[in-house]
Amino acid sequence: MTNKTIIQLDNIEKKFSTEDVETYALSQISLNINSGDYIAITGPSGCGKSTLLSLIGLLDVPSAGKYVLSGHDVSQISRDERAAIRNEHIGFVFQSFNLISDMTVEENIALPLSYRNNIDQKQISHLIDFALEKVDMQHRRKHFPSQLSGGQQQRVAIARAIAGKPALILADEPTGNLDSKNTDAVLELLKKLHNEGTTIVMVTHDPRSAGQANRQVEMFDGKIVADQVVSAKNSAA
Ligand code: ADP
Ligand code: MG
Repeated sequence: MTNKTIIQLDNIEKKFSTEDVETYALSQISLNINSGDYIAITGPSGCGKSTLLSLIGLLDVPSAGKYVLSGHDVSQISRDERAAIRNEHIGFVFQSFNLISDMTVEENIALPLSYRNNIDQKQISHLIDFALEKVDMQHRRKHFPSQLSGGQQQRVAIARAIAGKPALILADEPTGNLDSKNTDAVLELLKKLHNEGTTIVMVTHDPRSAGQANRQVEMFDGKIVADQVVSAKNSAA
């Protein structure tokens, strides 16, 4: 794995304005993320972790500062351009799984793929197979989310995130709603993806989850207050 910089955040600021208050959710954020990094972002509730992940994932735009993604300045691009880049290069995993309840497992995984140009049903079907096999959920292809346990739903959400073979996975408290057994299964899966070359940025409250990453970024009050490379404690066999 090379240490190529894929994400460069330079003096990023994010301000939310409501009727009478302005909240600086992020200020003076400068962060370089290298290909192959597995970063854990920690910090108290409300310190800006999810906001930072949304900006990295092009779900939102900074109020100020520069964001360069794979050599392209994406600080000022349009909503459509952001959506296209997101769809091709970034996979998201959320605490609450965010599966669509009236779609089956395979339909949930197919949905983001179906927005791509130059992809046909057969290719989509292959990618669904690939993703379900990775998370060991092939036997639940026709099930609906409500027919699955929380741990299984999160595995399907991970399958949806990886089906398009993104270079970057962003996970916001991915184990926050899971018991310890399912937490372990999800962490193991992320570790495997990392070992296969995927860059991962994970927001977490859980020290055990954070301990799996090889770089620890700590936030406080909208700022990065620590950033250190560590050797992962429980690397996969
Ligand atoms: P964390 O994920 O670390 O708990 P967030 O990134 O969700 O923190 O929030 C950081 C700060 O920004 C908080 O003060 C929060 O209330 C505020 N904030 C987040 N999203 C919005 C929004 N859409 N509108 C207004 N304020 C927001
Ligand atoms: Mg959050």
